[in-house]
Amino acid sequence: MSKAAEIELAAVSKVYGTTTAVHAISLKVPAGRYCCLLGPSGCGKSTTLRMIAGHEDITDGDIMLANKVVNGLPPARRGTAMMFQSYALFPHLDLVDNVAFSLKMQGVDKEKRRAEATEMLELMQLEPYADRRPAQLSGGQQQRVALARALITKPQALLLDEPLSALDPFLKIKMRAELKKLQTSLGMTFVHVTHSQEEAMALADLIVIMNDGRIEQAASPRDIFQKPATPFVARFMGSHNVISGRIVEQADKQTTIEVAGGHRFSALGAAEVGAETADIAVRTDHARLKDADEPGFGFTGVVANVEDLGATVKLSITGAGIEDFTILLSDADYFAKPVKSGDAVPLSWAPADAIVLGHVKS
Ligand code: ADP
Repeated sequence: MSKAAEIELAAVSKVYGTTTAVHAISLKVPAGRYCCLLGPSGCGKSTTLRMIAGHEDITDGDIMLANKVVNGLPPARRGTAMMFQSYALFPHLDLVDNVAFSLKMQGVDKEKRRAEATEMLELMQLEPYADRRPAQLSGGQQQRVALARALITKPQALLLDEPLSALDPFLKIKMRAELKKLQTSLGMTFVHVTHSQEEAMALADLIVIMNDGRIEQAASPRDIFQKPATPFVARFMGSHNVISGRIVEQADKQTTIEVAGGHRFSALGAAEVGAETADIAVRTDHARLKDADEPGFGFTGVVANVEDLGATVKLSITGAGIEDFTILLSDADYFAKPVKSGDAVPLSWAPADAIVLGHVKS
């Protein structure tokens, strides 16, 4: 395999007619990393991936692969390979010819390309099925053929567009582990588009969260989960509750806001300079139910819904002018002192579990 390449986007935009799908995004994916582009449908993930691959022209900005501007290069000359959601396998060709296809396009002679394809099928543990056609394989096997076909060009970066979305939930988790193993063993740069938070958390070294054509945050999964940069990231990851209010006090490293209901909340961090309002985030899994007379940092609300998720129990709480506040309790904590819809519950969290959020500049 050739060396992994760093991928850099500098103020890259994509405009389709009157729609700006991607707004001047800048991003660096270091060589050999597993990067997930994560966000809701329509946020510009696939457009970004297709621009990196060269399947889509860029309207403005530069894309660099291994420090070389590739804006005008066709896909086959970029050193990238793309794996599509549908796998796009040829139904009438056996696995060897499917995998060897791009070598055929490059004019590699039959014997050599079939030998290389067979080697790639071995790497993917597909050798026993070499003379089958795609329809004679399971979904997971088809996915491995698609991977083999992308990897045979020895790319410096592999681009994957929702590669697991066609698989059932069990297979999805199994193939996810295989993808990670493959990326680690090849040391190749992977950029993987997904709308699944769980998938991105499980796979990525670098998660890039997109919203409405902009990057909200690009960071390690840990940082995205523990320190969401914006209200969008906090809500999208489901790791934090977001409380919005008017700033009433601004100390050195602490901001206090007042919500519509009059209740005040403090959080770590400074609000944006000149701002009158701020959003704070409170960890869903660190807030807990406390005894009424126990001192603490929170509010009293009414349980609106209880969902038993197995290892955790999710409570939706309304109160103090906050419509929907989620807390996740371990099953042991919940069942030691169960509550039900309609119960009034005092909540508490540690000061460090509430942080001030920022905003994406537009
Ligand atoms: P995602 O992959 O995050 O679901 P896309 O990159 O596919 O989002 O799309 C981003 C935006 O660009 C959407 O508003 C979509 O409708 C628009 N878009 C994508 N492809 C085209 C196209 N070929 N022509 C016009 N608009 C497009």
